[in-house]
Amino acid sequence: MRICVYCASSEYCDRVYHDAAHTLGRVLAEAGCTIVYGGGAVGLMGSLANGALTAGGDVIGVIPRFMTEVEWQHPGLASLEVVEDMRERKHRLLTGSDAVVALPGGCGTLEELFEALTLKRLGLYFNPIVLVNTAGFYAPLQSFLERMIEQRFMNPQHLAMWTLVDSPNDVLPAIDAAPKWREDARNYAVVRP
Ligand code: AMP
Repeated sequence: MRICVYCASSEYCDRVYHDAAHTLGRVLAEAGCTIVYGGGAVGLMGSLANGALTAGGDVIGVIPRFMTEVEWQHPGLASLEVVEDMRERKHRLLTGSDAVVALPGGCGTLEELFEALTLKRLGLYFNPIVLVNTAGFYAPLQSFLERMIEQRFMNPQHLAMWTLVDSPNDVLPAIDAAPKWREDARNYAVVRP
């Protein structure tokens, strides 16, 4: 399985987030998954990659050229794809992935996560999306997404687009258990009267 992981570039978030990222890297590597991520050396991206590489995992980084010019890429990656811009990177990260996992992060992580959710809503992406709710980080986002449904900006079926898990150890079971996203998702993408 090829798992696309979105996560923070920040180095200075709490240790608990770094530990979860490192554990996720290890767990996915031990399960034989290929990780595709933003290619960064620091922050949760670095912890994720280090966890996977230490366990002998296959890790692919996808990074825009301007970031390599300031040497933000992880030096230990066997596979680093240098792309022209952020749009191409987002496209390359998601395309061909069997699942998306979002660890905690800032606006970059949320932008990537919301693109995946938006494409899934429109029937342009079909695979599981799992949010790792370390230290309750994603609980306010879960409430906000539920509010979007309650206020009729999305449909109740859209609740099935993502799964929240407490621990990185729950990610693979959540991917296996994720409800299959229907080919006719476009029929209920729009909120109707
Ligand atoms: P954020 O969640 O805002 O920290 O953003 C994470 C995303 O921002 C990554 O997936 C990248 O798109 C980008 N990014 C920001 N800083 C870096 C960095 N130092 N190295 C690699 N990617 C970065």
